Amino acid sequence: QLHARLSDARRLIMIVAATITLAVIFVALVIFRNTTIKPLRALTQRLRYVGQSRETLLGTIEPRGTAELCELATDFNRMAAELTDLYATMEQMAFVDSLTGLPNRNRFHEHLTILAQSPDKPFVLLLMDMDRFKAVNDTLGHHVGDELLREVGARLTRAQSTLPPSGSLSLNRERCLVARIGGDEFAALIPDISNIQNAEQTAQHFLDAVSGPCILGSHRLMLGTSIGIAVYPEHGHDRNTLMRHADLAMYFAKASRRGSAVYDASLDEGSLLHLTLESDLIRAIEQDELFLEYQPKIDVGTGDIVGTEALVRWMHPQHGFVGPQEFIPIAEKTDIVQRLTEWVLFRALRDCAEWQREGHAFGVAVNLSPINLHHPYMLKVINEALNENNLAPASLTLELTESAVMADPEYAIQVLGALADNHIGISIDDFGTGHCSLSYIKKLPATEIKIDRSFVGDMNNDSNDLVIVRSTIGLAHNMGLTVVAEGVEDAATLTELARLSCDRAQGYHIARPMPFQALIEWLDDWHAEHRQSG
Ligand code: C2E
Ligand code: CA
Ligand code: CA
Repeated sequence: QLHARLSDARRLIMIVAATITLAVIFVALVIFRNTTIKPLRALTQRLRYVGQSRETLLGTIEPRGTAELCELATDFNRMAAELTDLYATMEQMAFVDSLTGLPNRNRFHEHLTILAQSPDKPFVLLLMDMDRFKAVNDTLGHHVGDELLREVGARLTRAQSTLPPSGSLSLNRERCLVARIGGDEFAALIPDISNIQNAEQTAQHFLDAVSGPCILGSHRLMLGTSIGIAVYPEHGHDRNTLMRHADLAMYFAKASRRGSAVYDASLDEGSLLHLTLESDLIRAIEQDELFLEYQPKIDVGTGDIVGTEALVRWMHPQHGFVGPQEFIPIAEKTDIVQRLTEWVLFRALRDCAEWQREGHAFGVAVNLSPINLHHPYMLKVINEALNENNLAPASLTLELTESAVMADPEYAIQVLGALADNHIGISIDDFGTGHCSLSYIKKLPATEIKIDRSFVGDMNNDSNDLVIVRSTIGLAHNMGLTVVAEGVEDAATLTELARLSCDRAQGYHIARPMPFQALIEWLDDWHAEHRQSG
């Protein structure tokens, strides 16, 4: 009996013990699952996500479980935060231009590719290229160049935020993109514009924002830009076509000095040329495909020839005659312009020495690009060219456009001063078209100003032009400068210029530009005629 009760009790104890053990095991398992397995699984799952996409990084996990596991979770969160920052930095580096803070070329291409997938959603592509940037960078240093680009970036960003709504379409400024896509090239994408006129207005808005003086340290620089415009889908259905067409329009804008230009199929024919001209130009200089024509300048009072202007031309083996308006802007974008100018200088002075030997006592004028002015050895090169031909410095006049001088007036005063001290003539070309005031010219060591042909050509029909010509002559004389009227196309204009006491004249009415040999013959005829009439 006792034995039986004992074994019952033992069984009961064993059952209770087993139950307790099972319960403990169960509880332990539950606790283990919650404090270890679950947090561990959450951690491993997160780690697996991390490798898949950056979005999964953004969340954090709640530290749970054992002290060790909590620490692991905290470490994980810290690592995730660091990775998120790293992603942001990498994205910044891949898509943002570090100099200006604008989106870069990659970002721009990505955006353009996306926009160019919906033909029912028009947009405008603007390609902008700074004028004369190379000159600034080469002469004032990269530091100033960088400052200038930053300033342009800031001006473009402001322009983007003040874009006026176009036509009836409301403008979503958020969807616009302004980017720096290369050295001195910027671009803008403006959605919801399909009409050419609005596209041009938008380009003008950016032009206005960028142009104007910019003060950097002791330099006051005039900023200028040329903009090429392409409209999607009209001017191209894909990124590459649009870019190429906007680029052509940009070249055209630069060559014609008109600020902005819209792509046009007719540009393609002539302007595709530009894409190969650059390398061709180097060959042209080396292989004498370039030649000069000379256009006489006469004394308005006496009719005497007082000089000629050298104008460069190019006989391209495939494309035939190419005018300076087409290739000078390309040369100005690269170092080629220096070699080109040196070629012109040496050839012009050689020819000048030749006609002086034949008894024609006048000198020659050579056109300079703004970049030439900034070349460190320009003065040395000029003196070499003069010496080589045994010419007095007074035989040479350098023609510089008003805008070239205004690009960096302080610097211009310095360089031109050194040239003038050497008795080389300095002529301000295309006067009236730039931002120069006569009071500023006063500070320049100029000897001559040339009134732009746009005022002279029509002065007998347009009273505004006449006023400009008359007052320019008066003021220039007050400053002791010689005045040349260029673009004299008829006798009436020449007569009027004589009445206004203009000193010199140049234009088709007197003579067209002509090659050296033709000039010599023309000079003989001119003299024969003058001896007869005089
Ligand atoms: P520019 O210095 O204003 O030269 C005068 C331009 O006007 C020349 O055009 C000339 O042919 C043209 N012209 C002369 N008389 C008349 C006229 O009566 N009526 C009209 N409508 N035009 C007239 P071109 O030769 O095509 O030269 C254009 C520009 O190219 C020049 O303008 C000058 O800025 C540039 N250029 C020419 N040769 C050189 C050069 O050797 N170096 C540089 N840097 N630029 C040059
Ligand atoms: Ca000229
Ligand atoms: Ca001119």
